[in-house]
Amino acid sequence: MEEFKLGSTDKLKIENTVQDALNSMGASVGMPVRVFDIAASKDVNIYSVVFDEIENKDVLACSFVDEDAEDERVIFIGRNMDSTPKRKRFLAAHELGHHLLHENLCRDGFVFYKYKDRGEDSDGALAAADDGNEELHDDMDVELQADYFARTILMPEPLFKEKASLCGCDVETLSDTFGAPKFAVVARLEEFGLGD
Ligand SMILES: [Zn+2]
Repeated sequence: MEEFKLGSTDKLKIENTVQDALNSMGASVGMPVRVFDIAASKDVNIYSVVFDEIENKDVLACSFVDEDAEDERVIFIGRNMDSTPKRKRFLAAHELGHHLLHENLCRDGFVFYKYKDRGEDSDGALAAADDGNEELHDDMDVELQADYFARTILMPEPLFKEKASLCGCDVETLSDTFGAPKFAVVARLEEFGLGD
């Protein structure tokens, strides 16, 4: 797979957006971070839906602004996909990232889709390559940004580093501590040059 990387300017912008969201929750942000409540506090409504089994059979989640409902900011998370609770938290965080980072695209009527990883363990891949719809399929940046947003909000840096050093970077332990899927924990460890 071709490798894509986020620039440091992008990362900083995303980290600031995450920090704003965490700050707005104050002490009630919780651990694991209460990402569904953070979305609610940002006026983003999350619905559990059954995606159409024919047309949208590989969709795990999507996000958009509903012009027919007074511009309601919406995230749909599929309940017919056997996503684990951790995976759903990651999906919610990823889609929230689109709402907070890519508001202009959302306002333009763009719908972000997150597809089930094809041919891979559904918990084992970044999924970015299959994300986004046709028009923007080549624009990996927005997907990398949303994934980085998700990792950063679920696994805030200082706390993540602290917990990682306590457990010797054990992926399972960190996954449970932060309520994040293992593939995201591995990516977070790599981001900080930790782990294997
Ligand atoms: Zn996405």
